Amino acid sequence: MPFRNRYTGLIDTYRDRLPVHDDTRIISLGEGNTPLIRLHNIPDMLGKNVDIYVKYEGLNPTGSFKDRGMTMAVTKAVEANSKAIICASTGNTSAAAAAYAARAGIAAFVLIPEGKIAAGKLAQAMMHGAVIIQIKGNFDDGMRLVKEVAETAPVTIVNSINPYRLQGQKTAAFEIIEELGRAPDYHCLPVGNAGNITAHWIGYCESSSASVDCVTEACTFCDGHCKYAGGPIVSNRPVMIGYQASGSAPFMRGDMVDDPDTVATAIRIGHPQSWNQAWKVKEESKGWFDECSDELILSAQKLLTEEEGIFCEPASATSLAGAMEDIKSGKIKEGSTVVCTLTGHGLKDPDTAMKQGQSTFVTVDATLQSVEKAILSNM
Ligand SMILES: *Cc1c(COP(=O)(O)O)cnc(C)c1O
Repeated sequence: MPFRNRYTGLIDTYRDRLPVHDDTRIISLGEGNTPLIRLHNIPDMLGKNVDIYVKYEGLNPTGSFKDRGMTMAVTKAVEANSKAIICASTGNTSAAAAAYAARAGIAAFVLIPEGKIAAGKLAQAMMHGAVIIQIKGNFDDGMRLVKEVAETAPVTIVNSINPYRLQGQKTAAFEIIEELGRAPDYHCLPVGNAGNITAHWIGYCESSSASVDCVTEACTFCDGHCKYAGGPIVSNRPVMIGYQASGSAPFMRGDMVDDPDTVATAIRIGHPQSWNQAWKVKEESKGWFDECSDELILSAQKLLTEEEGIFCEPASATSLAGAMEDIKSGKIKEGSTVVCTLTGHGLKDPDTAMKQGQSTFVTVDATLQSVEKAILSNM
């Protein structure tokens, strides 16, 4: 068996399709190259002939897809001699920013909404030594403040309004195409700021033979940093579907939401930063937006853990929750291939998970008899 080259991250892998130079110092933690897992039991349960794959982005170094964008954003910040990065975050951006800043040897400032960030994400930001500024407001307030403060303070914004973030994130589409040999028919994502759905569309457009117009279009998404070159070219592009949590669904309301609320804290965003781009993605791909209740989101999260052995955080399960509804209704057609992005790992939010796992948790005396009884009564 031949030796395999050590995987050194997505910038090294897709260098010719990303805005880096030969002598750029790459700040990487080996992000990307995440598994595309074919679901077995859930499609059977749905009783529909649909091939569902999940792209398990929770297996990135800090446990979410944010690493794909952060390796690019921090690499470019360091290239520009920046000594500090800043972001507003519902949690995962701050975890990624903190880790990549530590790797680069620069400072990270993160603004998080008080009391609304999952325990795992906060622990990461703290451990990596970010300066955590907890604000008495939500993500949208944080985002506004970050933009304001960056006008004067010597800090680089690494939220997805930083065009390099989307450039890194588009590589998820490249990986999917390489594994399937084509683009899927449908690609489902949870939508918060809508940066990721935009980034995926850029990736698909850059890989499409029918893409001449769209690459140009996509370039307007990312400030002219799109660089098309090489890579496998396929003839199709997916229909893009964005799902939001009902309590935080500006794309469904057609307007900003001032007081978003959902158990899926990663998408608790009422003023999406990539608003215009996401509408364009929907139009160009002939896709749609829809919403899922918190109850539906949590039941999809549980189903995935119990039936497939895959643990994602609540926001991530929104893609599968929505896809299942659209498969059942026939809006997603039989015979098609569907990819659902699972944006973050389940361990990010242990509190929400443990509230759901109560039914299989029993406490008994430390005797053979009680343990036997617990087993037999739960068979
Ligand atoms: C950031 C994030 C999202 C939302 O992605 P956007 O690009 O803001 O739409 C969804 N799920 C998880 C786990 C996230 O961390």
